[in-house]
Amino acid sequence: MKLELDGVSKRYGTATALDSVSLSVEEGEFFTLVGPSGCGKTTTLRCIAGFESPTDGTVRFDGESMDGVPPEARGVGVVFQNYALFPHMTVGENVAYGLRFADPPGDVSRDERVTELLELVDLAGFEDREPDSLSGGQQQRVALARALAPGPDLLLLDEPMSALDARLRERLRRQVKRIQSELGVTTVYVTHDQSEALAVSDRVAVLNRGRVEQVGTPREVYHRPKTRFVAEFVGENNVLDGVVTRSLTGRRGQLADVVESRLETEGVEVGVGDQTFVLDGVDGDVGEAITFCVRPEDLHLDAGENRIRGTVVETEFQGSATRIRFDWQGIELTVVVADDGNETVELGSELDVGFDADAAHVVE
Ligand code: ATP
Repeated sequence: MKLELDGVSKRYGTATALDSVSLSVEEGEFFTLVGPSGCGKTTTLRCIAGFESPTDGTVRFDGESMDGVPPEARGVGVVFQNYALFPHMTVGENVAYGLRFADPPGDVSRDERVTELLELVDLAGFEDREPDSLSGGQQQRVALARALAPGPDLLLLDEPMSALDARLRERLRRQVKRIQSELGVTTVYVTHDQSEALAVSDRVAVLNRGRVEQVGTPREVYHRPKTRFVAEFVGENNVLDGVVTRSLTGRRGQLADVVESRLETEGVEVGVGDQTFVLDGVDGDVGEAITFCVRPEDLHLDAGENRIRGTVVETEFQGSATRIRFDWQGIELTVVVADDGNETVELGSELDVGFDADAAHVVE
């Protein structure tokens, strides 16, 4: 099923929870809404499920407007963060409850369908267990089985792992991902955890204050963030504000012959504080303000075309790497360096850090 949101806004009195959200989710896609608390993820999901009506805009399933269509008629499966199972029902009865509005798909009985679903979520034989006797992860898998029981065309998952500990969360998300791709069901997943979003999604939409900042594959939003917000929210980033001091268009071309001059690299020289940096592949007029970011893993110790010298303010050993925070001209930046097991970096010591001209990425 293809899902579209076309200019969906939701206002509560004077508060705007969603501000003209437009999204398109393809058939079979694992699509994630990610953003900080209060950015409108749950409200978006509730508008899709039909628990809320948009103040403006339209939700469409396969091109058909869902205006006025009640939740139970939308054929959507939903798993909420705290959508606890019914404690007085067995696991099997909880899953069967998912079939209260619909017959099981295909030519199977309700009991057969329940068995099928429990196998799918790796809980075969758990039919007669009480929900209270299951772990949090198992309970959420039962909730997933219940949501999937009627064979929905669309699966909505609202922070289904957030109550679980980190290890369990990772295991469950791999299971959810596997089940989703096995069934090929179009899925919208909500999380505030950007690393979870990058790990499971085909594409993600980064939301901020009820608006879509960027939609893209995990790699696109990580490597080519459009806005400062995305650059800072997705992964860690060093963001610097500068002013173009020189245009370097043709910098490389000058050295090339006529044929190669077509491969000229555009670039600019940017001043930040009392230092200048060369940024390749960037266009800009002299005097123009420019914001750019460099990932901590693209900064290097004692290497790189653009060099800065900072003072170490914090180090964190992470196993295979060490994360070093350092102060440069009153700005705190981060570099991640591979850890060889010997080197220690002293707090307060000076650090020579650099990045290549093509490692910087300009954001709005
Ligand atoms: P979280 O991760 O904390 O659940 P979220 O991204 O899911 O946050 P929403 O729950 O969609 O965010 O809320 C978006 C905004 O709309 C918030 O500012 C919230 O306070 C507001 N809001 C949501 N529901 C209502 C409501 N029923 N009445 C008034 N304001 C609401």
